[in-house]
Amino acid sequence: MPGEPLTLRELAGRPVSDLQGVGPKLEEKLAMLGITTVLDLLQHYPRRYVDRTHRADIAELTVGDEATVVGEVRRVNARRTRNGKALVEVTVSDGTSMLPITFFNQAWRERQLSVGTEAAFFGKLDVYQGKRKMTNPVVDVIGRAGEGDERTGVVVPIYPQSGKAEVYTWELRKLVTQVLRRCEPRGFADPLPEGVLDARDLVDRNTAYRAVHQPSSTPEAHAARHRLKFDEFLRLQTGLVARKRAMERTEEGIAHHVDGHLVRAFREQLPFPLTGDQRDAIAEIDADLARAAPMHRLLQGDVGSGKTVVALHTLLVAVQGGYQGALMAPTEVLAEQHFLSARSFLHGLTVSGEGGASLFAERPLGIALLTNRTTAAERRELTRGLADGTIDIVVGTHALLYDTAEFRALGVAVIDEQHRFGVEQRSWLRERASQTQIPDVLVLTATPIPRTAAMLVYGDLDKSELREMPPGRTPIVTEVIGPEPLDRERAYQRLRDEVAVGHQAYVVCPLVEGSDKVQAKAVTAEFERLGHEDLATLRLGLLHGQLPSREKEAVMAEFRSGALDALVSTTVIEVGVDVPNATVMIVEDADRFGLSQLHQLRGRVGRGGAQSWCFLFADPGTDEGRERMDAMAASTDGFELAERDLEIRGAGEVFGERQSGLSDLKLGRIPRDADIVADARVVAEAILDADPTLERHRDLADEVHDLLGDQVAMLFKS
Ligand code: ADP
Ligand code: MG
Repeated sequence: MPGEPLTLRELAGRPVSDLQGVGPKLEEKLAMLGITTVLDLLQHYPRRYVDRTHRADIAELTVGDEATVVGEVRRVNARRTRNGKALVEVTVSDGTSMLPITFFNQAWRERQLSVGTEAAFFGKLDVYQGKRKMTNPVVDVIGRAGEGDERTGVVVPIYPQSGKAEVYTWELRKLVTQVLRRCEPRGFADPLPEGVLDARDLVDRNTAYRAVHQPSSTPEAHAARHRLKFDEFLRLQTGLVARKRAMERTEEGIAHHVDGHLVRAFREQLPFPLTGDQRDAIAEIDADLARAAPMHRLLQGDVGSGKTVVALHTLLVAVQGGYQGALMAPTEVLAEQHFLSARSFLHGLTVSGEGGASLFAERPLGIALLTNRTTAAERRELTRGLADGTIDIVVGTHALLYDTAEFRALGVAVIDEQHRFGVEQRSWLRERASQTQIPDVLVLTATPIPRTAAMLVYGDLDKSELREMPPGRTPIVTEVIGPEPLDRERAYQRLRDEVAVGHQAYVVCPLVEGSDKVQAKAVTAEFERLGHEDLATLRLGLLHGQLPSREKEAVMAEFRSGALDALVSTTVIEVGVDVPNATVMIVEDADRFGLSQLHQLRGRVGRGGAQSWCFLFADPGTDEGRERMDAMAASTDGFELAERDLEIRGAGEVFGERQSGLSDLKLGRIPRDADIVADARVVAEAILDADPTLERHRDLADEVHDLLGDQVAMLFKS
């Protein structure tokens, strides 16, 4: 008797062992594929499809053709070649003719392709000793004679295999067929209203789950996958938008006065006019700050785009209202650098009275730095200053500020290069709320994120972008330099020439596998070598993570002052280091670095008005490495490179585990599915506009909850 349609949650509550034919052994093997529930099975989607109508007849093939042959294995023979390589020879028949296929170094094919196996072979037809054959084709096993595959239509789904688990694609097909049959009377609950489906040409869930596993044509399979991808993104977007809305609804923030003497004085004493993008970003930030809801905004801007000024403006708005500001950096070097630029930009500014409380006295704006180098005595003073409000702005590393600082009244936190701004950070801010007013947050990132990706990864933040670079910058010439000694010498020559005219340079050493210690040793060796050979005439400095902070800062200070010509360094200089006089960057083994990291490194030069060079020493052994080098040579636009990086490496690699939801995407991929992401966002917003707590969309609420966990569930309980 048919009941209510089946929800995904119900299916997730059914173990696979409920299915006919799943005994303890198969159950264990399925678990190795990550399949423990009926829902897992339903969402174990085919990797691809073999369309039998598109197969080639063996008899018709001519030498040189690339084709898919579908046939049955008639003979298998395994042996070793004279030099000991595994050689498996298989003969396949498709009813039109026979085709010999040879596999080298794939001994396991003997077992996989036993006589009677039906499989698709994709490869190129060639000739050997006058006979037509295929060598090392791609193989998709379809079934096995006598194994009772219940349904193999014209389009055959091929499931992802795991060698270890040994669950065959036809076994999966059989189980899925059983699931679909059992679900059919009740059907699948569809959380999307028909109107949405029609408007977007999406098939309903019943159609989608059936057709993704048992399509009768390739377009039908595509339509099914499109719908299921949409669902994946919709769940994520609903969670993110809901989280954002819930914060806006429930968190009380500070309604700052954005227009005041301090901000005006700051703007007046800036040594340059703001770029249009800086002005726009400041306007967006001001609008947030003026509202009573706390700001959660991401400021994206390439290295050198001028984020610091925008950040300082944001902090000053808080200070001018008698609140304090915190600027958090990921590393000591960067914290020190921020502190120095804050001090120079804010030099001479005054605030009224103790923490802005008294109307009478004027005192200099209080700025303090908190790093590992801060002594115990300095720290006591800092603690006192933060508590009584005489320190208006504190700059420090994330770790230290999260650990220690207590404020009289924290109004704004600017968080630089924080990829993990999340629950922990929010609760830190909440604890520092004065009278329940939660501080405003601005997150800075110099790793631009393509719009669609940002919608996923930072979907709960508002965004401002600095795309326009401050004027007076000459583009950086980027050259990829191969292993040829003469080419490398050309790069070193350029470096020496630049130093000769008073400029400075960086040499970044390769990433070395192993500990920081190993890395330090490698860079020290390169420093010695350069000092004796290619750069023997120059004043070189050495910088790596293993140096004591004091020494690191001393080296940086020397470099900044011009007492050093070149810095031989690990990637500690990656972020934020700002020495406009540096015009040459050499990166050793550049193909070992990711695109965004290379872009960051390159951003250390070209910061002044002078022509700059970036030499990428590389001998890429992979296509991917070559693609990255080409991309670097072709573009200096961080947003463009970020897009390429996503394409080359994929979202999981680029963003890591930050978004648990991202790693749960089974069909969806960015940037490929950018349109679907944007579309899902629109639908999620519309649904939450009409039904903020998803009262009338319980199935969707449950699905989002099951995907993102309790953290999100709370949002729907108004
Ligand atoms: P980011 O932090 O985004 O990498 P910075 O804020 O360090 O960039 O700015 C890079 C350089 O450009 C700094 O030397 C800064 O003083 C300068 N700068 C910032 N804004 C402008 C502007 N509007 N006009 C000219 N120079 C600017
Ligand atoms: Mg900066």
